[in-house]
Amino acid sequence: MQTADVVVIGGGIAGLSLAARIAPHARVVVLEGESAPGYHASGRSVAFAHYGLGNEPVRTLTALSMAELAVHGSVHPALHIAAAEEIAALDALEAVHRHYGCDYARIGADEAHALMPALRPDACAAALIDHGSLKLDTHAMLQAHVAGLKAAGGTLVTGARVGAIARDGDGWRVETVGETYAAPVLVNAAGAWADAIARMAGARPIGIEPRRRTVISFPAPEGEDVHAWPFTKTVGEGFYLLPEGRSQLLASSMDQTPSDPCDAAPEELDIAIAADRVEQATTLPIRRISHSWAGLRSFAPDELPVVGEAAEVPGFIWCAGQGGAGFQTAPALSRIAAAAVLGLAFPKDAAAAGLSFKSFSPARLGA
Ligand SMILES: Cc1cc2nc3c(=O)[nH]c(=O)nc-3n(C[C@H](O)[C@H](O)[C@H](O)COP(=O)(O)OP(=O)(O)OC[C@H]3O[C@@H](n4cnc5c(N)ncnc54)[C@H](O)[C@@H]3O)c2cc1C
Repeated sequence: MQTADVVVIGGGIAGLSLAARIAPHARVVVLEGESAPGYHASGRSVAFAHYGLGNEPVRTLTALSMAELAVHGSVHPALHIAAAEEIAALDALEAVHRHYGCDYARIGADEAHALMPALRPDACAAALIDHGSLKLDTHAMLQAHVAGLKAAGGTLVTGARVGAIARDGDGWRVETVGETYAAPVLVNAAGAWADAIARMAGARPIGIEPRRRTVISFPAPEGEDVHAWPFTKTVGEGFYLLPEGRSQLLASSMDQTPSDPCDAAPEELDIAIAADRVEQATTLPIRRISHSWAGLRSFAPDELPVVGEAAEVPGFIWCAGQGGAGFQTAPALSRIAAAAVLGLAFPKDAAAAGLSFKSFSPARLGA
């Protein structure tokens, strides 16, 4: 049997960013069921950080994370477009950018078209360009956390699917196929499987809902270098589009179909809807889909992350519900989660921004 101070279940961005933070202060083991970290949601994101999604606490976490994100990110503009009937939504998004002190400008249809020449006139009546958003290297982020964890003496065990969890005195006994781990503190960073892990440990599930999102990749128009095209997103329902290198584009219809936890795969209909929305709003002909994928974004009922100890289950710490913003919030959220695990004070910058342990506590969801 292996012993540790903290066992973290889940080797995605949530588990690894937290583990790397606490490893200098505790003996940490991360158990990942797949053969490599980041196989599920964390390997399937479109790797962008911007203010066009989430609720206020999620945006605050994003703002608190931007400086650290820049280590593995490069500045890439985000163009938020609104059709004539969506101006109120664009106004609201502008207020968000103003609140967080973003380097942005409100622009008209012509300027938006100059930045994104494939836009059809009726798709954009007005827009907002955020010059400070970031294209992230999510692979480098994950690897940096693995390296940080190992450098501080922590361990990542892959192929270690947790099949049973039992109380062992005041601590936990965690069973994988080949090994048993014992630790006083257990962190649930299992993404779409977070409720399943809670049930295994005898903690109350919180109603984490995995939602499938589909992404397509297709060739840019012949002879067009698209790498400087902005990340382009509709303020309401619609699509987003971003360059993938110089000659490919990625797009999503921002689908969010509830799903059981699983190895998500794209469905034909969702691929077709994504392609159709791009073709409706732009002059881009999608003659061939180069590849497509889907991943699960997992949400608590109030769409806020869940970080903190379960009520009445001492030593069981939630770190789940990162939704569609797990990378762009990871620097700040992992500091908050580390403080919860180590029993430290809530991070000062996050407190000054109006957040508290209470904001993310599972207690708000009765767990
Ligand atoms: C299409 C798409 C686009 C996205 N784009 C962005 C974006 O641009 N920016 C952004 O910030 N976020 C984005 N996201 C969201 C982001 O990817 C997620 O919020 C984040 O990856 C969640 O990380 P996680 O560690 O909680 O989950 P995961 O990465 O799913 O990690 C959970 C891990 O737990 C493991 N696990 C589960 N059960 C067990 C068990 N019993 N034993 C051992 N291990 C177990 C799983 O194998 C998995 O590796 C996107 C997501 C999708 C799907």
